[in-house]
Amino acid sequence: MILSHSRLDGARLASGTVAITGAGSGIGQALALLCAARGAKLALCDINDEGLADTAERVRSLGSAVLTRRVDVSDEDQMAEFAHAAYAQFDSVDLVVNNAGVAVMGGFLDTTVKDWDWLWSINVRGVVNGSQAFLPTMIEQGRGGHIANVASVAGLLANPDLGAYSSTKFAVVGLSEALRTELKPHRIGVTAVCPGVINTPITRNTRLRGAGNTDQRRAKITAIYEKRGYTPERVAENILKAVHKDKAVAPIALEAHLMYGASRLAPSLARWAAGRMASVGK
Ligand code: NAD
Repeated sequence: MILSHSRLDGARLASGTVAITGAGSGIGQALALLCAARGAKLALCDINDEGLADTAERVRSLGSAVLTRRVDVSDEDQMAEFAHAAYAQFDSVDLVVNNAGVAVMGGFLDTTVKDWDWLWSINVRGVVNGSQAFLPTMIEQGRGGHIANVASVAGLLANPDLGAYSSTKFAVVGLSEALRTELKPHRIGVTAVCPGVINTPITRNTRLRGAGNTDQRRAKITAIYEKRGYTPERVAENILKAVHKDKAVAPIALEAHLMYGASRLAPSLARWAAGRMASVGK
């Protein structure tokens, strides 16, 4: 018999544990604080020590227990140790959010093999490592649970100036879809989270490649993200809603819904629009 997915509702969240990668900044930090405000215990990791310590302090001030580890998500041993420590401290983990991610902006011929390796090791291997580290115990405990993989709308509709980044995010969406079916008998839901333009430090950390991608363009794009004003706090709210509803794919922000809809209903038009958007600020 296949049991239905055990929904991660408010009550389960309030008595449960959430593990988040890349919790020292942006979406990961906002989600950690929201989960803490809703009563959850937190297992958090990042390579950004300062940001991670700041998140942990704020989680504690909200009254929640928190475990932190410096973990490079591309390192499977560090991730395994993080999961081991989380289960040792909290017994079970109800929600794993594979959120850590990085970006490279530039055309295909301007993107180096090193860039590809860096992107894939974090954006894809990071999600694989997080899932492999936490899933065996989650399955063995038989309590169900949820995995939320933070992809992007660029994983639903490719942006030609973010080709390498888009390819990692398409991979995360594909992996999430496959895992969702595979984990259903274990009552573990899987959601691919696909945000649009979110005002976080990501644009400041994005590696720029190619002639038109200068620091001037970075400043213009950062200004567009700021003006758009969609906050990581709103993303965090929407992630928890999508997890609660056990959504397979969760576009977040209006532009993500529009781009997702257009990519399915009018793919040629969507690709044309994505091409136009790729030259914004050049
Ligand atoms: P951010 O830069 O604010 O946060 C990313 C965090 O990941 C940082 O704290 C960083 O230190 C951490 N990180 C980077 N490499 C790591 C590694 N190897 N190991 C562990 N941690 C690492 O960016 P954000 O916008 O909050 O991004 C979070 C996720 O959302 C990413 O996967 C990103 O691709 C995705 N996303 C962001 C946007 C956006 O517009 N901001 C849109 C779509 C998707």
